[in-house]
Amino acid sequence: KVRVRFAPSPTGPLHLGGVRTALYDYLFAKNQGGEFVLRIEDTDTARYVEGAEDYIEEALEWCGIIPDESPKKGGKFAPYRQSERRDIYDRYTEQILKTDYAYIAFDTSEELDAIRAEFEAKGEVFSYDNRTRNQLRNSLALSEEEVQKLLDEKTPYVVRFKMPVDRTLNLEDIIRGHSSVNTNTLDDKVLVKNDGMPTYHFANIIDDHEMEISHVIRGEEWLPSLGLHTLLYEAMGWKAPQFAHLSLILKPDVSTLINKDNIDSITKSFTEEFVLKNSQFSFDESAELIKSFFAEVKSPRFKSMLGENDKDNPLTASVKQFLKKGLSGKLSKRDGDKFGFPVFPLNFTDPKTGNVSKGYRESGYLPEAFINMISLLGWSPADDKENLTLEEMIKEFDLHKVHKAGARFSKEKSESLNHHYIQLKSNEELLTILKNLDLNLNIEDEKLLKIIHLMKERATFPIDIYENGKFFFEAPVSYDEKASKKAWNEETSAVLGELAEGLNTTEFASETLKQAVHDFAENKGLGMGKVMMPLRLALVGELKGPDVPDIMELIGKEESISRINNAIN
Ligand code: GLU
Repeated sequence: KVRVRFAPSPTGPLHLGGVRTALYDYLFAKNQGGEFVLRIEDTDTARYVEGAEDYIEEALEWCGIIPDESPKKGGKFAPYRQSERRDIYDRYTEQILKTDYAYIAFDTSEELDAIRAEFEAKGEVFSYDNRTRNQLRNSLALSEEEVQKLLDEKTPYVVRFKMPVDRTLNLEDIIRGHSSVNTNTLDDKVLVKNDGMPTYHFANIIDDHEMEISHVIRGEEWLPSLGLHTLLYEAMGWKAPQFAHLSLILKPDVSTLINKDNIDSITKSFTEEFVLKNSQFSFDESAELIKSFFAEVKSPRFKSMLGENDKDNPLTASVKQFLKKGLSGKLSKRDGDKFGFPVFPLNFTDPKTGNVSKGYRESGYLPEAFINMISLLGWSPADDKENLTLEEMIKEFDLHKVHKAGARFSKEKSESLNHHYIQLKSNEELLTILKNLDLNLNIEDEKLLKIIHLMKERATFPIDIYENGKFFFEAPVSYDEKASKKAWNEETSAVLGELAEGLNTTEFASETLKQAVHDFAENKGLGMGKVMMPLRLALVGELKGPDVPDIMELIGKEESISRINNAIN
């Protein structure tokens, strides 16, 4: 039976990478007719963040990634919160201590720090492993009496894994295939801390075994732990699940992100971070240089501009290095604020600072678009289809088709998917969404539905329907200068005045209005554009928007004529 778990630690909000892991876990489980389990790994109390667990559950629910078993829902293997499973871990701690794979160690962190410093003084790196374990304070190095004495004195201790000497481990990964690691490169990890709580490694394999997990699909950052985990299964005499490690999500291509509207704010956030790390340089000077690089971001020379050069002064050299790092590699949680796109599914308020990080939901993304975007970060369906519903993803998902290489996040892609899913929404659905936006819309539903119908084609976010269609709700307060030059001449006021008079007796229905303006223009011997353009300017304030007769019908006779009169006076 296929059973897959998503096992986040409640150390903060779920980010894009976390949602992707959860989604792939879920898709694989459902594709295989299996079960999807949510387990909260909260044994590290120091890193626990209030509210993070609720956030994770709410985010998954918004995405439609619904667990079969979870802390809230319960299930056959409850509890699903590691902090509530202490008695289970205690039992297995006893068990592993009876084998040759674990031992207890009394070294205090002060002692370990001192030894680490000694090594560093010699230019070496300390590691608690088969070379050093015999000289430290543990049950392998001390006599039985000494150990008993320390235990009798209630000396705090940890349980460590005893890494075997010089063994080559063969590791299998569904996505990455075969690899091997020699145990001499691995250290003796702590399995149980001195408060009796297991560390991630130990609790994780115990729970995966206890909860009958068949496949572990998780982020690439856990690949280095695979050797240890494999040996832990061996030590406990358990069959290990199959593993699949997902590649990193990479920063977006900056050349698509920086433009003249945001270059100053992006420069500012980069400069703030830069001078925080390089306080010898002034903010203004650094900002100027950083901006000059960003101004070239679309040029083919941009990459080579960041290359080293002997003639660089210290500021230039540091800025280049900083930018090279800051613009490539792994997508970080801070990139969202820096570049202006969300990296979290939902808004998250940091309980310590009160800072709010923007979420996809609150930024106007539809969950369909969000998970579609996430699904493509490292996986392509068979025929390279780009638009998939959750059901389609489940049907097509194949772990063997998940990419080994990192997946580049794209803000444009997420926006174009959102635009796509907005088109699939009915006007009624969009009406509900718009009404939930707190816009104080003073307008009947019937009219709003018509506005939605006219505006949704151009909307990336639901709010665009309102923002791009503001003229439906209020008269223009100014007229676009360029548009005025184009649309207006000395005769325009007189022409529109005459038109307005005629409109007084016209029925305000789009088709009739169209005909009326057409007849008017013909009678006057004017081209249609000569009338339509200034009319649009008078009604909208610029030369954009849907067909003018449609706008007039919606805003009505009185308002249309009043806007024309405002414009010509
Ligand atoms: N608790 C780990 C995390 O937060 C889970 C890793 C795993 O899936 O094994 O990433």
